[in-house]
Amino acid sequence: MRIAMVSEHASPLATLGGVDAGGQNVHVAALSTALALRGHEVDVYTRRDDPDLPECVELAPGVTVVHVPAGPAREIAKDDLLPYMGVFGDVLAQWWSANRPPDVAHAHFWMSGLAGLQAAAVTGVPLAQTFHALGSVKRRHQGAHDTSPPGRIPAEASIGRRVDVVVATCSDEVTELVRLGVPEQRIRVVPCGVDVERFRPGCTGVVEPPRRATYRLLCVGRLVERKGIETVVHALADLPDTELVVAGGPAADLLDADDEARRLRAIARQEGVDDRVHLVGRVDHDDLPALVDSADAVVATPWYEPFGIVPVEAAACGVPVVGSAVGGLVDTVQDGRTGVLVPPRDPAALAAALRGLLDHPERRAALGAAARRRAVARYGWDRIAAQTELIYRTVVRRSVLTEVAAG
Ligand code: UDP
Repeated sequence: MRIAMVSEHASPLATLGGVDAGGQNVHVAALSTALALRGHEVDVYTRRDDPDLPECVELAPGVTVVHVPAGPAREIAKDDLLPYMGVFGDVLAQWWSANRPPDVAHAHFWMSGLAGLQAAAVTGVPLAQTFHALGSVKRRHQGAHDTSPPGRIPAEASIGRRVDVVVATCSDEVTELVRLGVPEQRIRVVPCGVDVERFRPGCTGVVEPPRRATYRLLCVGRLVERKGIETVVHALADLPDTELVVAGGPAADLLDADDEARRLRAIARQEGVDDRVHLVGRVDHDDLPALVDSADAVVATPWYEPFGIVPVEAAACGVPVVGSAVGGLVDTVQDGRTGVLVPPRDPAALAAALRGLLDHPERRAALGAAARRRAVARYGWDRIAAQTELIYRTVVRRSVLTEVAAG
């Protein structure tokens, strides 16, 4: 099949860890590559955010990243991109009409869905949609701090009803989508995946910083408040023999200028744990497995989480996750079997759960081994690509039948 991925803000070529570069970038890159390995031809359409970028860049054999001119060719926060989605959709429609159109398109994030629907209306290309995050959930948790453009929630409801299929990443998302009015029979669940060869137990490499406490906890992710790293910093006050490494955010030398880094450091000082909290800034994705392997537990305590690839990466490394019982983590972390789930924003519950793991190396090892087995069985990208391909084939067949019926 010829597959078009539409990922307006999240380029698979972007450096990870910044405010707008995380799971979606990893997902689009890895899914596209895994689909190409299955013999498909994949073009990933993302917004040109630098004038020096070539129009097309090969990401992997069979995967081309195509830079779409829509809005100024510079970095723009994703929440400010809506005004350019009309042009983005027009460009897709023109390119798909001028050349052989793709057999199927898959839009990632709601704004890609708008552009994708616009192009699909002109070209008849069937469209799958993965939201990655929902405005309704964001608004519930962030209230007035939510910077999404007004109209996001009704737009997502409308996209969900108009696309050929919604590919949700976890069961919690299905509940949210149905609440929005998306018919359940039009939703399929395919989780995000993990590279189980790259993320595996016993990964070695240079690990910075070297361990300075008996136990090490690791948080990985964009430095945004809703990731709940603050909860881990508070919990550290009850775990005197433990250090916390936080990977993510800008490069290490720019952390002093980062608001969230400064806020976390101030909390660490108030708690008297600043000598045990190490913010290391963004870590190259290739260097992450060794860092994960150096931890006794990976902690992911977001307020909410559309999926959360990091817990699956930890599982693949055989490192237990202590995570909040929200969103995708409810599917990916099996409480008491591959990790431990705690309520979000509850430092006391988190500290108790961590104590129960740190004091019991045999329990950590058992949970870690079970986590690795489950990651290999369920979350390898080849498996995720095969499930996604089946969905594409269904929508392509349905669109051909509809065309035939229409004469
Ligand atoms: N990541 C990385 N380096 C960093 C921070 C994050 O490679 O310094 C990667 C991380 O390994 C994961 C992704 O960024 O693959 C974050 O995805 P997740 O779904 O956990 O969070 P999101 O960014 O989607 O909120």
